[in-house]
Amino acid sequence: MSNIICPLCKRCKGKFSFTGKDLLYNINGRFDLFECKNCGLVFLNPIPSEDDLKDYYPKDYCDEYGRLTKILVEIMEKGRAKKIVKISRIEAKILDVGCGRGYLLRALNLLGARNLYGVEPDPDAAKLASRFGVIKVSTFLNAQLKDNSFDIVIFKHSLEHIPNIEKAIEKTKRILRHDGMVVVILPNSNSWERRIFGKYWRGFDVPRHIYTFNPFNLDLLLRNNGFRIKEMRYGFTPNDWIMSIQFYLSDKLPSLKPFFSINNPFLLMLFAPLSIIQSLAMKSGRMEITAQRCIN
Ligand SMILES: [Zn+2]
Repeated sequence: MSNIICPLCKRCKGKFSFTGKDLLYNINGRFDLFECKNCGLVFLNPIPSEDDLKDYYPKDYCDEYGRLTKILVEIMEKGRAKKIVKISRIEAKILDVGCGRGYLLRALNLLGARNLYGVEPDPDAAKLASRFGVIKVSTFLNAQLKDNSFDIVIFKHSLEHIPNIEKAIEKTKRILRHDGMVVVILPNSNSWERRIFGKYWRGFDVPRHIYTFNPFNLDLLLRNNGFRIKEMRYGFTPNDWIMSIQFYLSDKLPSLKPFFSINNPFLLMLFAPLSIIQSLAMKSGRMEITAQRCIN
């Protein structure tokens, strides 16, 4: 157990953290998570193959959000799209990896961006996203994408799902133009939510999140692969507080679980002030990073 090698820093520092189960879709199985004592990366061990992953995603994984969540997602994606357009130009060639039903592509399209592409393994979600751009129905590693062709590659809650993280970053570098940007949005293991909820923290999303990063090891991954972080922001996550409570209750007090829904406006308002403080303290459960490919 103590000889597990960290897939990121390659040191022999992988220490058993906990055995998790799927608290969202109840997929069968128990999954061991390790945490690197050197860089802090949390990772599934063994790392699943791309084939194993097919069992981890139920048919309704990309289903439509509830009414309130949908409104909030649209507002959030509008804000993200504005920032993305600001760091580049309106005619930039943009790829959204794991674009789902295309909410972010839609927001970019509404701002006037037209050179939009996506990769999405779910064919039904990909069909919906194709209203806003050219979508390849594939995983990122298997997708045929032209080298040196994109200005921006976005991983919004998708990088942590890819089994071979090094190949994913190498491919990102290859398909980006020499001064292209990567935008990465993912959970932050150095957050108050992770400390409070432990294995019930929504950010672990066992077994779909193969890796859970913190600001230090994400910077390490990007720097090792020729990227330089330009901006790091900490997101607003009242929904993750509610879902983490749901996860805890589903194990400990299932009868109380129905009272905690992310479609409950009262609960979202209750956790909003805490989420704002957490973002300002740079301890929120979500990191949003913009990094530039270094010219070489
Ligand atoms: Zn490590």
